[in-house]
Parts: sequence; structure tokens; C-alpha cells
Amino acid sequence: MSPRKIALLAFAVVVLVLPLVLPVYGLTLMNFIGLAAIVVAGLVLLTGIGGLTSFGQASFVGVGAYTTAWFTTAMGLSPVLALPLALFAGALFALVIGAVTLRLSGHYLPLSTIAWSLSLYFLIGNVAALGGHDGIPGVPPISLFGWVLAGPVYTWLIVAAVALSLLTVANVLTSRDGRAVRCLRGRRVMLEAFGVDTARLRLAIFIHAAILAALSGWLYAHLIQFVNATPFGLNASIEYLFMTVIGGSAHIVGAVIGAGVMTLLRDGLQRLAPGLVGSGGATEIVMLGLVMVVLLQTAPRGIMPWLLRLLPARGRPLMELDRARRIPPFDGRPKPERGSEILVVEGATKRFGGLTAVNNVSFDLKAGEILGVIGPNGAGKSTLFNLLTGISPATAGEIRYRGERIERMASRRIARLGVARTFQHVLLRSDMSALENVAVGAHLRSHRGYLSALLRLDRREEEKLLAEAMRQLERVGLAHLAHAPAGSLALGQQRILEIARALAADPALLLLDEPAAGLRFKEKQELAELLSKLREEGVAVLIVEHDMNFVMNLVDRLVVISFGQKISEGVPSQVQNDVAVQEAYLGVAA
Ligand code: ADP
Ligand code: MG
Repeated sequence: MSPRKIALLAFAVVVLVLPLVLPVYGLTLMNFIGLAAIVVAGLVLLTGIGGLTSFGQASFVGVGAYTTAWFTTAMGLSPVLALPLALFAGALFALVIGAVTLRLSGHYLPLSTIAWSLSLYFLIGNVAALGGHDGIPGVPPISLFGWVLAGPVYTWLIVAAVALSLLTVANVLTSRDGRAVRCLRGRRVMLEAFGVDTARLRLAIFIHAAILAALSGWLYAHLIQFVNATPFGLNASIEYLFMTVIGGSAHIVGAVIGAGVMTLLRDGLQRLAPGLVGSGGATEIVMLGLVMVVLLQTAPRGIMPWLLRLLPARGRPLMELDRARRIPPFDGRPKPERGSEILVVEGATKRFGGLTAVNNVSFDLKAGEILGVIGPNGAGKSTLFNLLTGISPATAGEIRYRGERIERMASRRIARLGVARTFQHVLLRSDMSALENVAVGAHLRSHRGYLSALLRLDRREEEKLLAEAMRQLERVGLAHLAHAPAGSLALGQQRILEIARALAADPALLLLDEPAAGLRFKEKQELAELLSKLREEGVAVLIVEHDMNFVMNLVDRLVVISFGQKISEGVPSQVQNDVAVQEAYLGVAA
């Protein structure tokens, strides 16, 4: 057994034995830690990793608690039967609220979460059927076959719920959707360019987190056997956020650590504070705030990264090269016949206000052809790539990919058609391994959804995805760095990594935006070899590059752009002798 597993097992044993030896007060604390950890597990996914800050998580706990309280008291339903209803209510609220507010960006999203959580809070307090501000008393305990769950048994139930919650989050995070979730923060354009529906993904993690919160609410209601609105207000939501940050917002186990530290701290201060500074409810809050600040000053990324350093590293890598070779690959995309027309651009135009970045540009490209796009800085090359990949819609003109109009098609739909690209300013997730970054490119090659990831029904597909990523890394000569964080690679290698990611999509049209910048001579040679091989396979390649030696020896044809306009086109030797081109580059005719 690996040391990591032993540590985990020891922790599990301690947690399971604790309820038997703790006094009643300790048991209560443990229950509250568990209840909070379930909510925070969702927040780690949503906020810590997905980057969506929610100041309203406690209201989903309230939705779960009130749903089960109402059904078990007013309708006489058993708590066990009310559980699916409570979870469903949490999901439904999240669906409705998420559909409306998740479109908001920047600070508006967190602000909106405050708004709806306050509205929900006041709504609950004012509905007579829900007991108004007095709440709902007499919520029954949970009983199974006439046996009432109480004391240590209830704590074990909570522990099981915590474990299950962490497991669902862990399962999602190690899936194709999970990799995409990890890229949501600041990499949405890239995700869409590889076919990820980021709006849907955001909604999925929002609902997932809400269901976990509702689960916590269900457990809470039957533990306390009474609900009112107070524990589900903004204060509680902020505390959950604090727990997320303190535990280490990017680690699921941090959910337990954060919930534990915060709950114990608050309890300790509640008992200490009055003795220290006299009585008064506000002292403990101020002290809690101070301790929080000190904690975050010493460990700004939470406690978890610091704990991880003490733990031995995980044993087996995610995927090994020889294993990858044994795993059967996905079926390839049927490639167009070599020489057939794959891309036709007619009068493509893009205006940003008064600036015409791309002005009436036309050209075409055949399968098995490499077309170079050159031109001075600011000529409009990257903007042209954005038009071709749907990242920004064309103002005018027509772009056809294999006969289909794509000039205003959504990025992820174009990706589906077989178009993949790299970005001039690399868009990798630097704390994710090279392998996982490349696997994002293969997103569309599997169709296993969020739910099957959550239930771990996607494992064989997941293996295939990682194997595919590994093979692409080998293809570009980076297999030896598969498990290194992408951010630790040299810039040139990061560009190559972007190419591997694009290749993982099995494209018929590949767009490379300055792939050779920062590469050493030998790396450039290898890149040229790789691109020539792709050409043999019938892939069409569009490449923006400044290194003229590299371009001239590689491409079949060139398009030259200056100030947004095409000023020349032809085979390299033609273009080289074109007076207009020399003028554009040197400012004067040579
Ligand atoms: P290149 O890739 O050829 O160096 P770009 O396509 O990046 O050039 O830029 C072309 C012109 O369009 C530049 O003047 C740039 O400032 C402008 N531009 C690019 N993107 C935007 C945008 N989103 N909004 C406004 N102007 C833009
Ligand atoms: Mg550019």
C-alpha cells in the first residue's frame, strides 16, 4: 500500500471511531463540521476551481432544509422519501437562478448571488405556510425500519454523506468535463474553440453545488428537528466561502479542512472571547475576522497546499506511454480527399468601431495544403484566425468550410466540424499537467456527459482520452514532459503543447498562430517535419509565422496581409519578388 493510501486509511479510521468516544458536545461539533464540509465541497468545485463566486450557497441549504421540513410535517412524508424531493428542489432552484444569472460576468455574478440569496431569505421568512419567522417545528428524526438514527449513528450518516459528496466532486474533476471546469477561469475562449459548451458547464457545476448544499440542509433539518430562516442567510453563505478559501479552494479535501478549522475556531472563540474582552456578541466576530486575516496572510492559498507538501506524492501517473499505446484509439474523422477544397474565404471583413482589422480578404485552401499568412504586426492575421474559428463573428463577407457557411457560426460548432487552432498568446492551464492540457483538445472525441462522470461510468472513455493525449504528446516529442505542469515548460514547448492539443481534436483544418516563435532551430526543424507529415495525411494547415526561412521552406502558398488587406498571394518565390510585399515590410520598394 502506498504511504498516501495508508494516511487516508488512518484518517478514515479516526473519523469512524471518533463518534464513539466523543462527548455529546464534541459530537455536535463534528456534525456541524460534516454539514459544512458537504456545502464547501460544492463550493470548491464551483468557486475554488470553476471560478464562479457564490454568496448564496446557504440559501440552497435552506431550500433543502425547508423542502424536507415541509414535506415531513405538513404532508407526513418520511424523511427518506423527502430526500430526493429536497435534492430536486435544490437542483430546480439552481437551474432557474443559474439560467438567469450565470450569464453575468465579472463582479455582477457574485453581486447577483447576494441579491437572490437575500430575496430567498426574506421570502422564506414571510411565507405563512413555511411558518414565517417562527419557522417549522417538529421535524421528525430520520428512522430506518422503525429504528431512529441518533447520536453516533447520525454522525456516521453525515460522515458518509461527506464522503459521497467529495467523491462526486472528485469524479467530475477527473473527467473531460472536469478538465474543462478547471479551465473555466480565464480560458473560456479556448474551451469554446475546442467544442466545450461553457455556459452549460457553468450551469452543471452550479446545480451540482446546489444539490450538495440541499443534501446538507436535509441532514440539518432532521438533526435539529426544527428549521427557520436564520441559519440560511448571507452570514452563513460568507462563512462557507471563508471555509473554502481557508481549506485551500482548489482541493476537495480542503473542504473538510476548511469546515473543520472554521467551525472549531468559531467555537473556541465563542467560549474564549467573552472572558477576554467582556461580553458582547460582536467581539467573537471581530476576532474571527482577525484570525482569518492572519491565516490567509501566512497561507494565502489555504491550508491544503501546505498539507499536501507533507503528504507523499501520488504513486501511479495518470497515463503512461506504453499503456497509452495498448489502448485502442478513437475512430478518426473521415478526412476530405486530398486536393479537395476545404476553406473558401470571400471578402472577409472585421471592423472594431472605426478600425477595419480585416478588410475584404479572400483566399482558399485545399486539403493537404499548407498556406502561410504573413504580414507585419497588427496587419490583422490573428483577427482573421478569430473569424475562421468563430471567436469573433465577421462584419461582412463569407467564409465556407467544406461547403458550410461559418462566418457567424459559434466557435464550438466550428470545432465540431473539424477545425482546431493554437493561440498566439498560449492559452494553457499552467497548473494542469501537459497531458491534461492536451486532453482538453480531445474533448469532442468522447461524448460522456457530466452525469456519467459523476457516477464514474466514463472510466473507459476517460482512459481513451488520456491515451489519445499521450499519443499526441509523443507525436510532437513532449511525452517525457507529460506529467509536468504546463506552466513549468519553456515558452517554445508550450507552443508545441498547444499544437498537440489541437491535434488531439483530430482536425481536418489546423490553424497555427505563430507556432515557431520562441523555438530553437532544431525544434523548428521538427515542427516543419511534423507539419509536412500532416500535409501528407491530407490535413489542411493555415499558418501565421514571422520566421521567413521557416515559412518559405514549408508552405505551398502564401497570402500577404498589410493593414487588414490582402496585398499579395502566390507560391513563396513569387511573393518574395513582389514589390508590394517588400514595400509593406520595409516601407520602401527594394
Ligand atoms: P496581427 O495578428 O496581424 O499582428 P491582429 O489581428 O492581432 O494583428 O490585430 C489587427 C488590428 O486589430 C490591430 O490594430 C489590433 O489592435 C486590432 N484589434 C484586434 N483585436 C481587437 C479587438 N478585440 N478590439 C479592437 N481592436 C482589435
Ligand atoms: Mg497576431
